[in-house]
Amino acid sequence: MEKIKRNILLNPGPATTTDTVKYAQIVPDICPREKEFAGMMKGIRNDLVKIVHGDPEKYTSVLFCGSGTLNIDVVLNSLLPEGKKVLVVNNGAYSERAVEICRYYGLPHIDLSFPVDEVPDLERVEQTLKNDPDIALVHTTHNETGTGILNPVREIGKIAHRYGAVFTVDTTSTYAMRPINIEEDNIDFCMASAQKGLTAFTGLSFIVGKRSEIEKSRDYPRRSYYCNLYMQYDFFERTGEMHFTPPVQTIYATVQALKEYFAEGEEAKWARHTRVFNAINEGLDALGFRQVIKPENRAGLVCSAVYPDDPEWSFEKIHDYCYERGFTIYPGKISTTNTFRLCALGAIDEPDIKAFFEIFRDALDCCGVSVPVKYDVGGRDK
Ligand SMILES: *Cc1c(COP(=O)(O)O)cnc(C)c1O
Repeated sequence: MEKIKRNILLNPGPATTTDTVKYAQIVPDICPREKEFAGMMKGIRNDLVKIVHGDPEKYTSVLFCGSGTLNIDVVLNSLLPEGKKVLVVNNGAYSERAVEICRYYGLPHIDLSFPVDEVPDLERVEQTLKNDPDIALVHTTHNETGTGILNPVREIGKIAHRYGAVFTVDTTSTYAMRPINIEEDNIDFCMASAQKGLTAFTGLSFIVGKRSEIEKSRDYPRRSYYCNLYMQYDFFERTGEMHFTPPVQTIYATVQALKEYFAEGEEAKWARHTRVFNAINEGLDALGFRQVIKPENRAGLVCSAVYPDDPEWSFEKIHDYCYERGFTIYPGKISTTNTFRLCALGAIDEPDIKAFFEIFRDALDCCGVSVPVKYDVGGRDK
């Protein structure tokens, strides 16, 4: 097996993969309607529930072909009963996307928004639910990938359940990285796609959630043909297959990625991501970079650094310098502040980050950016 050039992706997914996962895609051609292929998907479905410690009697998983946004679309459009309302607890770009999906489907919704660098105020969440008995679905994002803030899902879920609402959480940027216990975390539905924490490839997305709620949703309005949760679940239960053509090669890679996930183990994997994250923070601190999210609110996977006030700073130039040397950095996703992101996803470890910061430091020198980086007095103090 020939080694493939290894790029270190510090963007928030797709992530750096192992060669064994890359090569797992190279298989004899197969029609995905064969029993052999359905058997593979059954194994994946079970493993996906196991990763979040779900009781297989109560929880199931449903696979879709598409990128992660598809999951947000599916849970919102499929799990809302007629005449009821969605509450989005929104403090960032991915919850904003959920609001947009509600708007596109014309779903009655409340956009309960909070500043992007603050944890949502639980009292306001509770008041909103108390004041509006029509809310049947509460949605939020676990790790807002745009900033790296960690949201208190266990607490939000507890409140949602107190008012009888279903709780759906976008865990795309924590699933299979930061440990989740679906039941203890009060999550009814979580989601991710194969190219993030599982460190496989794009094309496969999945929702893990409560069987009883999916079955209830059979009688809810069918608002989408391709993206309906009950329809896809029902097809899987009856035939073991995806309703429409699955991403065949990505599924082979995911089987291998799951093997590697369980071989490394939840605890060891999270410890590795934490090592990487700490190394990123140390590197940024040493160069004087400010970050958007306070250390105590960081989810431990995404660092969001503020552009320095230096006329020589050019994200593009620094990006290109690093990219040419095998390291990918990523722009931020906040409309009010210019930021860039460095993420701890993927099959990488501490030495990769040490190597990155040598290149990054050279890039700053090469551009003439002074180090430690400067911020204007009276500028944003973060
Ligand atoms: C990556 C990501 C998604 C999915 O984005 P796609 O571009 O559709 O893959 C959704 N939610 C969060 C929190 C993410 O980090």
